[in-house]
Amino acid sequence: MRQRSIAFVVSCLFPVALLAASCAKDPPAGGAPTAATGNHATAGAKPGSHEDWCGEHAVPESQCTRCNKTLEAAFKATGDWCPDHGLPKSQCLKCNPDLKIVRPAKAQ
Ligand SMILES: [Zn+2]
Ligand SMILES: [Zn+2]
Repeated sequence: MRQRSIAFVVSCLFPVALLAASCAKDPPAGGAPTAATGNHATAGAKPGSHEDWCGEHAVPESQCTRCNKTLEAAFKATGDWCPDHGLPKSQCLKCNPDLKIVRPAKAQ
């Protein structure tokens, strides 16, 4: 008897779940596409770790001046700044095409 009642509940909920899923696919109001947030580190990522990485700009997220403008001052203060391209020299591939910024390996 118990088994039967569980099956009944599942069969009743299934169409509801489908309906909810189809609603979730609707574009958000305003129509602006949401950026690929999966490319960016979460707020709690440890600087220098594998998780601390900006996939959009291929630099550590904790050093990504394009994502966090407040970081610019620190680079300028140490002279690590390319005014022509608005980037830290250590991240400026236009001035230094051989530059390779490698993402740290994932911690075990
Ligand atoms: Zn970035
Ligand atoms: Zn440059």
